[in-house]
Amino acid sequence: MVKSATPRYTKSTLPEKTCLACGRPFAWRKKWKNVWDEVKTCSERCKGDLRRDNRSGAPAKS
Ligand SMILES: [Zn+2]
Repeated sequence: MVKSATPRYTKSTLPEKTCLACGRPFAWRKKWKNVWDEVKTCSERCKGDLRRDNRSGAPAKS
């Protein structure tokens, strides 16, 4: 084994998603490694915006 190549785990190889709140693309982050499938927004703030939008569209139930 020869350690010649540089690490391939660079920004360009990270998976990306589009934020459902602001519509901007965002890249995978370490803190999301366990919940990446569930991540829909780029930030906590957008997450809050999304939640508020959902709530305003649907009547309070349950
Ligand atoms: Zn966003």
